[in-house]
Amino acid sequence: MTQQTPPVTPKNFIYHIIDEDLAAGKNQGKVITRFPPEPNGYLHIGHAKSICLNFGIARDYHGICNLRFDDTNPTTEEAEYVNAIIAAVKWLGFDWQERMYYASDYFEKFFTYAVALIKKDKAYVCDLTPEEMREYRGTLTSPGKNSPYRQRTIEENLDLFLRMRRGEFTDGTKVLRAKIDMQAPNINLRDPVIYRIRHEHHHRTMDNWCIYPMYDYAHCVSDAIENITHSICTLEFEDHRPLYDWFLEQLRDTDPNLSHPQQIEFARLNLTYTVTSKRKLLELVTTNAVAGWDDPRMPTIAGIKRRGFTPAAIRNFCDKIGVTKQESTVEMSYLEECVREDLNAIAPRVMAVLKPLRVVITNFPCEHTDQLDAPYHPTDISMGSRQLPFAREIYIEQDDFMEIPPKDFFRLRPGGEVRLRYAYVIKCNEVIKNSTTGAIEELRCTYDPATRGGNIPDGRKVKGTIHWVAANSALKAEVRLYDRLFSVANPTANKEVDFKTHLNPQSLIVLSECFVEPSLIEAKPEEKFQFERLGYFCVDVDQSDNSRNNGRKLIFNRTVTLKDGWKKK
Ligand code: ATP
Ligand code: MG
Repeated sequence: MTQQTPPVTPKNFIYHIIDEDLAAGKNQGKVITRFPPEPNGYLHIGHAKSICLNFGIARDYHGICNLRFDDTNPTTEEAEYVNAIIAAVKWLGFDWQERMYYASDYFEKFFTYAVALIKKDKAYVCDLTPEEMREYRGTLTSPGKNSPYRQRTIEENLDLFLRMRRGEFTDGTKVLRAKIDMQAPNINLRDPVIYRIRHEHHHRTMDNWCIYPMYDYAHCVSDAIENITHSICTLEFEDHRPLYDWFLEQLRDTDPNLSHPQQIEFARLNLTYTVTSKRKLLELVTTNAVAGWDDPRMPTIAGIKRRGFTPAAIRNFCDKIGVTKQESTVEMSYLEECVREDLNAIAPRVMAVLKPLRVVITNFPCEHTDQLDAPYHPTDISMGSRQLPFAREIYIEQDDFMEIPPKDFFRLRPGGEVRLRYAYVIKCNEVIKNSTTGAIEELRCTYDPATRGGNIPDGRKVKGTIHWVAANSALKAEVRLYDRLFSVANPTANKEVDFKTHLNPQSLIVLSECFVEPSLIEAKPEEKFQFERLGYFCVDVDQSDNSRNNGRKLIFNRTVTLKDGWKKK
């Protein structure tokens, strides 16, 4: 593990199960978990919960956690997704060492075990069409009925199954089914399909196979092959657990090396103002509603990384929300608060002006530059400080000046004074406007040299402090103000309405004429800062435009604002 700190994970019900298993001497005292993503999309924040849980358990019990690609479905899986998943789990700070597995590596074993089931008369080849299968399956309230092919002999089934593998039949004409009980109250036990025919290319096994195993069969067998002790999954698989156990029970005498892992279900993570379904996220990507899987508005690991969220914040969030069996939805503001908490501790403070208003300090010498010392962090002195150049022309935020301000406006006004952070008190003497539009173009101010560093020797009251940058040394930057992707808390609440209609039109505002202080010339992609009074920002990974700042264009992504602005909405 790359984590240095000792585990702080609060014990959830799964830990109690494991404690009991260990006390009872189960699994020879071993704890082996796995994270089993299907490589059909990028991982999202929901997966992070599962990753933190599975790898966290391995860490806390000195056990191991495998990374296993559940790549049994040839149609949707791509190598791009495999690489993105590897990067995401690593970035979260977890390590599977050499134990990276693919379910497709077990295809031969899956086949052998399926043959064993046939030989035990526990599986048969069925020719019902998908429609007929549905009809025969029954419903939640009515029992199913036996397929006419259920009585095939073992020999006939073996012959047909081998011929299915050899490619003698077309897609959908035959399946291999488990022979369990068509009257079972649990529909999952009504002779579920184990194998189907798919003449498809697979990203790892190429064209070696034209039959592919179903999830319920492949998953438990993969777990057993890897000697997983606790197979942790989300609640929707609770009703599949009897099937999980049935397969492993049937295969016990076939291969004594197959272990029988314990399936444990927990409630998946749902978050407000976003979606956590790979299918929906893919839809956002393919319809260009976002700029890709790593768009900073996406709840994907790649997206939140680019947005500036930190692995520590995500791990802390996952620990704090806990693991239960109760379905619930977590507030996005809670995740954002975890991000603020981490960034507050680690992000250097710098100054940036996003909507610049030029201010000329008329009593400051033309060619002179004053260097002011400014600490990078209010409490962590180990972060040091930098020199801020102060000059005759500076920029302040347009919002920090009002010509006719309300009573409680403590920033700059005509004739009023304001403190410039780390610098001087200035007084506004004149407002220069565009002669045709009337827009404010520039302020003429004077500074008080006696107030260097913000001290006011005569004790006069100056309530406001604002941020600024010096015009001649500031770097031009583009700042992307990201906000929540959806404007409603639950965009998928109404299934009749396309969830994309709830996309937040304000989720990205690009400000391309911003200025940041010169110390940021050294800023590297993904580096994180607090822009004083504005929020937390990070340098975007894509710095392709070389036209500015000595061949570098600085692009900053807003990670979060300083406070939760959604509360009052
Ligand atoms: P999606 O619904 O987004 O397609 P999935 O369950 O199909 O997700 P998998 O790749 O199969 O995606 O998921 C890998 C693991 O992550 C599984 O063990 C799954 O239970 C878990 N997981 C997926 N989504 C969540 C979530 N929202 N919260 C917690 N765990 C999740
Ligand atoms: Mg799944």
